[in-house]
Amino acid sequence: MPCWQRLRMQPDLSVVIPLFNEEQSLPLLVRRLFPALDALGRSYEVVFVDDGSSDRTVEQLQLLVEARSRAVRAILLAHNVGQHLAIMAAFKQVRGRSVVTLDADLQNPPEEIGAVLQALEDGADYVGTIRGIRQDDWWRRTASRLLNRIREHTTRIRITDQGCMLRGFDRHVVDSINRCRDVTPFVPALAYVFARRPVEIKVSHEPRAAGKSKYSLLRLIRLNFDLMTGYSLVPLQLFSVSGIAIAIGSIFFVIYLAIRRLVLGPEVEGVFTLFGIAFFLLGCVLFGIGIVGEYVGRIFEQTQNRPRYVVAHILGDSQFVPSCQKEISA
Ligand code: UDP
Ligand code: MG
Repeated sequence: MPCWQRLRMQPDLSVVIPLFNEEQSLPLLVRRLFPALDALGRSYEVVFVDDGSSDRTVEQLQLLVEARSRAVRAILLAHNVGQHLAIMAAFKQVRGRSVVTLDADLQNPPEEIGAVLQALEDGADYVGTIRGIRQDDWWRRTASRLLNRIREHTTRIRITDQGCMLRGFDRHVVDSINRCRDVTPFVPALAYVFARRPVEIKVSHEPRAAGKSKYSLLRLIRLNFDLMTGYSLVPLQLFSVSGIAIAIGSIFFVIYLAIRRLVLGPEVEGVFTLFGIAFFLLGCVLFGIGIVGEYVGRIFEQTQNRPRYVVAHILGDSQFVPSCQKEISA
């Protein structure tokens, strides 16, 4: 498509919403999303991404695209690849001058999109958000606090609230993200890397409108390993530095034991203390190997060069993209 034609068709705002088995939330979302967008008085498009749902999400998207074909497109991914890769798939297709991401479950109220857009129009090129009072289970809030803390200390990414996905991106940030080939991306961190004028604003947070969270504890841990391994070498450096410290400490310990042997003769006391120390160190070594494994596994996936996701179909936009398109992470 010629550049001038793309510019003419460029809406002020693109809203990106990933969905994974959200048949219960989607009708509720639609009821609030479009009035909120109409109230902004800007041209907009909504790009839904179905992340391999097995419920009736796709059928609902089909009906929605038929009803609102001028403002809605739906990218159907062939398999579930996770929220962040799903958003990356949508970023390849968005045309807006500004882009806002939103969850489908109404935890981020669509009425807050206006505040995010305003911050972008005031000159920010990336708008992060901080949730007011979080409406999540206690274990999610505790885990998030802990993981936020770890990320603060291990990466240079300064995000107050990494879990909230109501975020705004200027076109140039989206274009830069589109050039990335990460197999395990974390979209807010990528945006932070490319933004020149990032800001954060406070938004409200609501309980999930319907259905269940798609993040189990294991999935949450995996996501945070993606974030840590993708943006920091600190965990590896921590292990090499503590390895050096323990090695130096053990030299003094051996000298001390040798002197005791000479002065007091052979001793057998303290065997269990020694066991304790040995088990502790063994645990540290296994943990270290695990961390190295997390990095090696991701390097392995990256070098395989497989498609990160497969777009099975795009509804509502036959003019722009082929109906079956593979994204190769080359
Ligand atoms: N999601 C997705 N793919 C996944 C998991 C989640 O597209 O593999 C979507 C989900 O449908 C929702 C958003 O990402 O729109 C956030 O998910 P969820 O609300 O389950 O996360 P939580 O709020 O519990 O962090
Ligand atoms: Mg949610």
